[in-house]
Amino acid sequence: MDCIFCKIANKEIESAIIYEDDSVIAFNDLNPQSPIHFLVIPKEHISSANDINEDNKEIIGHIFCVINKLAKDKGFDKDGYRIVNNIGKDGGQSVNHIHFHVLAGRSLQWPPG
Ligand code: AMP
Repeated sequence: MDCIFCKIANKEIESAIIYEDDSVIAFNDLNPQSPIHFLVIPKEHISSANDINEDNKEIIGHIFCVINKLAKDKGFDKDGYRIVNNIGKDGGQSVNHIHFHVLAGRSLQWPPG
């Protein structure tokens, strides 16, 4: 499958990896929207939140545990941050491998555009 995030997970293309374990990888976003902006993805290909099901749901909880750990390690847990998951065309998803944006380091606005 020609998926850029599968290629990042398989180290076929380079990325700025900040965390990795058996099932998850986190790397800095190429086009950061805040002083801290990284993506957390499952190594397993899941296209979007539309494809979360009883068989793969545990990885999502694990991803949130990883984000929690990284927030504490990097020290932005107390000031706060945002986790974003875009789904499909109207959600603004441009890469069809589920990913969670983690944005931190500035006061973020709401609502989104
Ligand atoms: P989304 O629009 O929610 O699908 O987000 C995709 C994100 O992936 C964007 O913020 C891009 O900047 C980011 N991105 C695309 N290609 C790469 C890459 N090779 N390395 C790091 N981030 C990437």
